[in-house]
Amino acid sequence: MANQSLVDVAVVSHWIDGAERASTSGRTAPVYNPATGAVQAEVALANQEEIDAAIASAQAGFRVWSQYSVAKRQAVLFAFRELLNARKPELARLVTSEHGKVVSDAMGEILRGQEVVELATGFPHLIKGAFSENASTGVDVYSLKQPLGVVGVISPFNFPVMVPLWFVPIALAAGNAVVLKPSEKDPSAALWMAKLWKEAGLPDGAFTVLQGDKLAVDGLLTSPVVQSISFVGSTPIAQYIYETASKNGKRVQALGGAKNHMLVLPDADLDLVADSAVNAGYGAAGERCMAISVVLAVEPVADDLVAKITERIAKLRIGNGAGVDGVEPDMGPLITDVHRDKVSSYVDIAEADGAKIVVDGRNYEVAGHEDGFFFGPTLIDGIPTTSRAYTEEIFGPVLSVVRVSSYDEGLELINSGEFGNGTAIFTNDGGAARRFQNEVEVGMIGINVPIPVPVAYHSFGGWKKSLFGDAKAYGVHGFDFFTREKAVTSRWLDPALHGGINLGFPQNT
Ligand code: NAD
Repeated sequence: MANQSLVDVAVVSHWIDGAERASTSGRTAPVYNPATGAVQAEVALANQEEIDAAIASAQAGFRVWSQYSVAKRQAVLFAFRELLNARKPELARLVTSEHGKVVSDAMGEILRGQEVVELATGFPHLIKGAFSENASTGVDVYSLKQPLGVVGVISPFNFPVMVPLWFVPIALAAGNAVVLKPSEKDPSAALWMAKLWKEAGLPDGAFTVLQGDKLAVDGLLTSPVVQSISFVGSTPIAQYIYETASKNGKRVQALGGAKNHMLVLPDADLDLVADSAVNAGYGAAGERCMAISVVLAVEPVADDLVAKITERIAKLRIGNGAGVDGVEPDMGPLITDVHRDKVSSYVDIAEADGAKIVVDGRNYEVAGHEDGFFFGPTLIDGIPTTSRAYTEEIFGPVLSVVRVSSYDEGLELINSGEFGNGTAIFTNDGGAARRFQNEVEVGMIGINVPIPVPVAYHSFGGWKKSLFGDAKAYGVHGFDFFTREKAVTSRWLDPALHGGINLGFPQNT
């Protein structure tokens, strides 16, 4: 029966002091297998005592880890990379069992996270300071990049491996101790990675997993020990995190939601566009912050494009992301039944607002998985841009086509939205693409690339309500975020240069 707890389900615990720590809070949340609808585990929800224990352990871990030499820290990162690379198929299956995405897609997110681990192995070059010899006579000036201390990472359900890995390897490389609060919807990957860090040689306390809900998050936001917060999730929570953590004196980067548009100019290759729209709209059942959710078709191509997308949707296979008899589908279920119903309600809104539902994924059933949280790929045409189904993030396999008469009208629609995470333009006109990259108010742009997630050495982050704070994730921004600089002005006294008493402001001579 759907949503019914199995007897004796495992409880996913915290990771504190380098070991699993069972919770005594008496509070748990269900962890579903979204493909079957069954509760396959419970996750511990921390109480204040467990929050305090996690932070205290991280504080002790920081004292040890921050004193490891650069070479020793680097050795741990290399070992983690090797272990992750060797064992990622196991992690991918674990992600699929709690998230629902198809195994190859889970593998894809691990690979993108692994890229950041690989970047972090090169950290000595990125955090080495600068030295100015004889800046003033007999005086040297140099800068040191030091860790912040205990840093908090709070992650969303949709990338239980990749999003933590956007921050954790860089924070650790810089010498910080990390407390990760994963999503309570798919909490096991964090615990799996904690074990791997230990095996890689990370000292106890340097990486902590605190399972929980708002109480655990608020514990991190208000603790005077925690120096920074890296958050990824929905916009209202990102804004709350930014405001609360800032008020508590912390450095904050809070990445929020998205509503990504693909602008299609009439000269584009419509088959390439249709393939890309389907991949970016329905991959991971649309539960990606870089998913395309609106196709802006500059006329006269909209009718052709709707027909081509519709043809492709008919061929998509929807099912258990783990595969059946060794065959993997294209798309798995949504994360929960509550979320599925929310996605469905947006299609109702679009319909009520006068849009045409060309392909309707509501009430979608997969044979043999009738209790799973499936929602079929949905295509909406002619959605009014005043509809909430157009302006708000849906986070499901729902693609809307909006017909526009010109590049300028399309650009204006993108720039008037409240989000600015990702966008793409499809065209063969290089001049138009250059104009677009200059004029569009979005943080990550694809030119004939539908999901432009930057590589690890370019930073990830959107504009407007898709990112609160000044630092993006990973890349150079990541190293800047997780270090603070100290400038040292040093003089080794030469009796011949000693100038005696002078109360004036120091001058360089
Ligand atoms: P969410 O905001 O519901 O949860 C994110 C985290 O915040 C979780 O760990 C959760 O436990 C915690 N949280 C939830 N409610 C809270 C509250 N009231 N107070 C304190 N903490 C709270 O997001 P989600 O549903 O897990 O993830 C999907 C969202 O994340 C989408 O909006 C998606 O666009 C966004 N996302 C953004 C990016 C990006 O890079 N911009 C990447 C991935 C996901």
